[in-house]
Amino acid sequence: MRVAALAGGVGAGKFLRGLVRVVPPEDLTVIVNTGDDVRIHGLHVSPDLDSVTYWLAGVADRERGWGRAGETFRTTEELRRFGAPDSWFSLGDMDLAVHLFRSELLEQGSSLSAVTAEVARRFEVNVRIIPMTNDPVETRMEVVDEGGQAMDLHFQEYWVKRGARDEVKAIRYVGAESAHPAGGALEAINEADAVLICPSNPVASIGPILAIPGIRDALAEWRNRAAGVSPIVGGAPVRGMADKLLPAVGVEVSAAGAASCYRGLIRGWVIDELDRSLAGVVEQQGFDVVVVPTLMVDDDAAEVVARAVLRVALDGGHR
Ligand code: GDP
Ligand code: CA
Repeated sequence: MRVAALAGGVGAGKFLRGLVRVVPPEDLTVIVNTGDDVRIHGLHVSPDLDSVTYWLAGVADRERGWGRAGETFRTTEELRRFGAPDSWFSLGDMDLAVHLFRSELLEQGSSLSAVTAEVARRFEVNVRIIPMTNDPVETRMEVVDEGGQAMDLHFQEYWVKRGARDEVKAIRYVGAESAHPAGGALEAINEADAVLICPSNPVASIGPILAIPGIRDALAEWRNRAAGVSPIVGGAPVRGMADKLLPAVGVEVSAAGAASCYRGLIRGWVIDELDRSLAGVVEQQGFDVVVVPTLMVDDDAAEVVARAVLRVALDGGHR
């Protein structure tokens, strides 16, 4: 069974560990957000590509969520002592090797797709991980700070540097409209038996992927075999600050609100036991609903979620 999945970072990574217990890794293509890629200390950092790779490789830090387990931060600490302008962004010492490797190959003319495949090979990940595009796309935030000052920030400046404290007025995926899906992305969707949307941030992670011309249409065309998992559990994101972004695009912070981001693109939606009371509302929006525990505390829990979303993608809802 061939499966294509749209993915952000951490929520996606946890979920994909469950999915590869159900689907052979060679049959899985993951299309990953690059809208929050950022240049740090002159290096090309791809947070979501690396999160997905690290989780699938089994080297991710489950407690911290991002980065590698057993990581040290000596280089970042030293850069802070220099007062390096980008040292608000923590890069682990082992993680840094990936950014150096990626930046060098990109400079030599490799595509991000090619580098991503090289990194996956190094970690012995057999899943096909591809960036949503090889073209530059940047998620930008139009915000207003506490003092009423308007600013236009890179997503990482808003999220990491400023801790999502500003009021969000608008979100733009700059460059998306003229970007092309990376080679293999549309094919993966078109040829899949099931297309899945990981429990990722709908605005920061999945929104940029859907903004690449061709991807939204491919999903819509195959919506009868597509489904997603709610990243919102009990009216709040499991981790992270998705509650700041959904209202900015006029969406309620709930499992039903998150589903509404994908109307017309998927048939099925997996929600948590805690949100069982919303099942009817989600069904009224036109989705088949499956209710299971969705807190992916370990790979067993993630496998339950993966089986549930595959089932609703292939057969429809069972409450
Ligand atoms: P990021 O780019 O690293 O922030 O990653 P994602 O967009 O993939 O993931 C962030 C989303 O994952 C947040 O909205 C979380 O609520 C969601 N998430 C994280 N862990 C879990 C989990 O165990 N279960 C569910 N349902 N969602 C989760
Ligand atoms: Ca991300």
